Order: sequence, then structure tokens, then C-alpha cells
Amino acid sequence: MPSNQTHQCPLCRNDEVELYAEAKDVEYATTSDTYSFYNCRACDILFVSPMLDDQLDLIYPSNYYAFGGAQETLAQKIKNYLDLRLFRKITDHFPQNTALNILDVGGGDGWLLDLFKQMDRKFGETWVVDLDQKAQEKAIAKGHNFHLGPIEMFTYDGKFDVILMLNLIEHVKDPRAVLLQIKSLLSGNGCVLIKTPNFNSLDAKLFKNNNWGGFHTPRHFVLFTQSSFESLAQEVGLKVTQSQLTQGAPFWAVSVTALAQKYGLIKVDYSKGMHRHWLYKVSTLLGAAFDILRGPFSDTSQMFITLSHSDDSKN
Ligand SMILES: [Zn+2]
Repeated sequence: MPSNQTHQCPLCRNDEVELYAEAKDVEYATTSDTYSFYNCRACDILFVSPMLDDQLDLIYPSNYYAFGGAQETLAQKIKNYLDLRLFRKITDHFPQNTALNILDVGGGDGWLLDLFKQMDRKFGETWVVDLDQKAQEKAIAKGHNFHLGPIEMFTYDGKFDVILMLNLIEHVKDPRAVLLQIKSLLSGNGCVLIKTPNFNSLDAKLFKNNNWGGFHTPRHFVLFTQSSFESLAQEVGLKVTQSQLTQGAPFWAVSVTALAQKYGLIKVDYSKGMHRHWLYKVSTLLGAAFDILRGPFSDTSQMFITLSHSDDSKN
């Protein structure tokens, strides 16, 4: 297994970090290596080591769930409905006659942008920035603009009113650089919607030493809590306008399925994928129900955060 000599925090560059947990790729089995998650106390983040940012083809297999856009399942339809409700809320403060420019970072074939466009209002340009070449053609066919490559390399003449970055910031090696880039692309009264795991949650603590699903080893490079994400946002001149925790059913599902496999109770067929296993499906439903019930009383593992320019940094 490749190893870094020092384990340096990707945010503060300090190497006084503590080993937090070790985990494997229980979800896709792309490698059999054990990865370490380190905790930088100063930044209150976790980061994976080694960070395989130069081996993306290895760690994102062709059956990766984010490839191929949304599926037409009932669960997906419910999720779409809830997402659409959230999108309405964040676009409400723009005047109806403003044509909104929207960017989806890591947006695949633009399926979230399609959902946005179902709203009865004006849209300007819709853009996807993604590394997935296969998604490009589909996105363009649906009328979106597409930039193939990392967000840090994306240049755009205008500004975006809404920037979506769902399940993305935890996948990059330099979250600060990405947030700075997002800020430079954001219109004066624009808003950014971010979804990322919260490692300060019940399931993260319970499965800390048993491949917590939120580790998504080795594809999640940096993990935050609500407060550590807010600190980083502030540092780059962005303000948190809303921060809420939501159910983290997929993390329960991965954690429980991997644990059952570890004890020989089930066997995951990785050619089909963990997501097809009956236990994964059952624990997704139970995990969602449990998180919704406990949500008011204890922290769950997904956070939705909206950001705007800080009052003193509007351009
Ligand atoms: Zn740090």
C-alpha cells in the first residue's frame, strides 16, 4: 500500500494530526488496501490517507452510483420531490423576472438541472462541470452547457445565481480552493447549495471502527462537521445562510451491510454492487425512518448548507 511519509492536514498543512479510524472500500471493493482517516483537531476535519487524487479511474468504477444520472425508482421520485421543494425555497428570493444562471458542480448528465427547470420561472444558462466524459453528450443533448474537468480549471465570463455542489466537496483534495473558485463564480446575491457528510453523527460514532458508510473509503478525501464547514466558508468570504442535518440512510445501509458481511452473515456480489443487495435496500429504508424519527434529538450524518457572499465580500 502506498503511504505518505507525513500526514498533513489538507486545510492548515499541519502534520500534528491524530489517527481517527481505518477503513476499506467495502462498497465497491476497488482495492483491498486499508486506508487511514486522520483528524486535524485545529480544523475539526477528517482526511483520508493516502489520498488517491491521481488514481480516480481506479477508485471510481464504471458501476459507480453517481454515473448515469437519476433512476426512475419510487425512492428517487420522492427524493426528487423533496429536492424540488428545497430548490424552490432557495430560488424564492430571486425576482421572478430574473433569468437564473445555474451551475451544477459534479452534476453528471444534468439531471438535477432538469429538475430545476421544472420550476415555473425563467432560466438563463445551465452548466454542468464534471469529470465524467460519458455524461457530457447526454447533458449537452438536454440543452445544458458542459465543462469537462475539475471545477478549479473552469472559466466563465458571467456569474451564477445558483451553484449546486451536492456530494462533491468531500471528494476533492483541496476544499478551500474549490470554495474560492465557487465564490469567484457566484453573483452578488447568488446562493450556493452544498450537501456533504457530517462526521459528528450517531452512525459515524457507532461505525467509526467498522467502515462507516460516510467514509466512502477511499473516495471521500475530507469530511466536515457543521461548524468546521462553516469556519472554512467564512475564511474564504462566504456566509452560511442555512445549515440543516438530514437523514443519512445510505451511510446506515453501507455500514450495516458491510458489518454483516464482515461477520459472514451475508456475501456481497461486487460484480452487481452492494447497492443491489437486499440488506442494503432494507437498511436504507430502516436507516431513513430511524434518522427521521431521531432527527429532532440527535445529529444525523448528512448536511445541507446554503452559502452566500459575506456582507463585506460582495463583488
Ligand atoms: Zn488542519
